[in-house]
Amino acid sequence: MSQQYDAIIIGAGLAGLSVAALLAGEAGKRVLVLEKQDYVGGRLVSFTGKGDRLVLNGKDLDVKAYEKILASVYAWVARSEPNLDTLFSERMLDGFSFEAGGHATFWGTRGRVGCLLDYLKEPIPLPGNEGFSVIDPESSALYPMEKGGRYGWMSDESNRIAKALLREMAMADEETMKQWDLISFGKWLNDRTDDRKVYEFLAAVASIHMVMGEPEMIPAGDFIRFMRTAVSIGMNLISGSTGIVPKPGFVYIGERLAQHVKNDGGTIMTGTGVQEIVFDGERVAGVITDGPNGPQRFNATKIVCTVPIRKIFKFLPRARLPEALVKQVDEQFFSVGMLTGYVAVKSNLLADAGIAPKSWLLVPSIIKAAEGFIGDVDIISIMPSNFEPSLAPAGKHVIAYSIALTEGELHDRAKVNRVIDLGREIFHKTFPKMKQDTLWEIWTCSDKGFGDWPPPGSRRPDTTQPGLEGLFFAGDGYGASTWGSGMDAAIHSALYCVDAMTGGSFVEKVLPEYHR
Ligand SMILES: Cc1cc2nc3c(=O)[nH]c(=O)nc-3n(C[C@H](O)[C@H](O)[C@H](O)COP(=O)(O)OP(=O)(O)OC[C@H]3O[C@@H](n4cnc5c(N)ncnc54)[C@H](O)[C@@H]3O)c2cc1C
Repeated sequence: MSQQYDAIIIGAGLAGLSVAALLAGEAGKRVLVLEKQDYVGGRLVSFTGKGDRLVLNGKDLDVKAYEKILASVYAWVARSEPNLDTLFSERMLDGFSFEAGGHATFWGTRGRVGCLLDYLKEPIPLPGNEGFSVIDPESSALYPMEKGGRYGWMSDESNRIAKALLREMAMADEETMKQWDLISFGKWLNDRTDDRKVYEFLAAVASIHMVMGEPEMIPAGDFIRFMRTAVSIGMNLISGSTGIVPKPGFVYIGERLAQHVKNDGGTIMTGTGVQEIVFDGERVAGVITDGPNGPQRFNATKIVCTVPIRKIFKFLPRARLPEALVKQVDEQFFSVGMLTGYVAVKSNLLADAGIAPKSWLLVPSIIKAAEGFIGDVDIISIMPSNFEPSLAPAGKHVIAYSIALTEGELHDRAKVNRVIDLGREIFHKTFPKMKQDTLWEIWTCSDKGFGDWPPPGSRRPDTTQPGLEGLFFAGDGYGASTWGSGMDAAIHSALYCVDAMTGGSFVEKVLPEYHR
């Protein structure tokens, strides 16, 4: 038996749930969200330790179930100390919450995530950083930053150049931005400076936001537009540039949006993957799923696909999309990945080192590209339990690392081990008690953390495609007008998608001008 809906959304990640929440609530549509996995949130997935188990979406997970969930966000454990069986059976994770996917919002409550949640009247706290320090990888010395202050690890001349370039980014007008949409951030930097220290610092800041370690991969416009919003938002790299979610972590955003959809009469089916999109000529007619009750057909004349583009050909024949787009996806698109580390410690390392405990830390260029990596490798780190004590048991802390690596590097065990070992060495030198105070470590690789990207200069595939009536796309890798990355991009594209579906103006309603 088939069932009729106004719109079917494929995927209960941030983009899919945002689209569904707006369609069900604001546009009064009958929506069905179909999610292949057994949980909602997609690449927003967090775990909370409870005894010898982890908990996600209220369900208990053992080691096997944990690894299965990791795989659903294109992730796997690269290293854990002690091994996972011991971590679980010895209850070492009890009381800690940590992420497998998205683990920091850009501009805290004032980023696009905060804007959407506020619009939906579902605000949640997104405590942000108060402090920013740089660790010089050569000396392991800590350089706490002050607004307008000097970059202590650089010469006066390098300071002057770095600040002039940051100012140029902040002050750029829209016409200039359009030019920068066409080039890579590597070109932007090389056109302006040959000062290596400046290059390494700005490339590292860009790699945080775009999760691309090599500036030649980074679309200049996407990153610089983000820097430009700082002025309007009244935040900067020292205050509010990054925010986190209290226990249970980022998955709570997905859980909250899912509840919102249900409250407005929408239906969400987990464990129900789409196997085929059904067409009536060039118009979509429905989907066939492989849910717990076997194959099922659901009908709608509007379908939204939120799966990253390099994965959609499993249920959408290549011939349905424009030939040029398919060729570009096959030949030029790349996935943006990340090495993530969570380390539990029994002391407050940052406070003990005399820096603001809610600082984020940047270690630019710990490994130079000449060592065989696509670009220099940078480390970004925060201590989430300082932002929000509910993320660790009393008296304990957790420190998180984000390191941009390419798909190829993430699958190269020697390269991943080299980055973990060196990162550890630097942190152990900077925080002398860290080694003895470490309780456990989990390092995971995700080779599609920030989705699929075209090369700099090309826009993302748009939310609608010629010859596909009724089929829409949303997600961090979609939208010709989308800019930014990660969660911010997922929401931006979702708003454009709902506007294309309804003729509405949700981009304007939800986002202040500087986020559009
Ligand atoms: C390790 C890691 C670290 C990250 N760090 C950050 C960060 O610090 N800041 C930031 O902003 N972003 C970060 N991100 C990125 C952020 O999590 C994503 O950009 C965002 O969550 C993407 O949302 P989405 O809805 O576009 O895609 P997804 O969350 O991938 O949603 C797509 C959904 O579709 C489902 N699906 C797939 N196939 C099917 C099918 N056939 N049928 C039905 N459903 C299907 C998937 O299971 C998934 O739930 C990180 C991601 C990872 C993995």
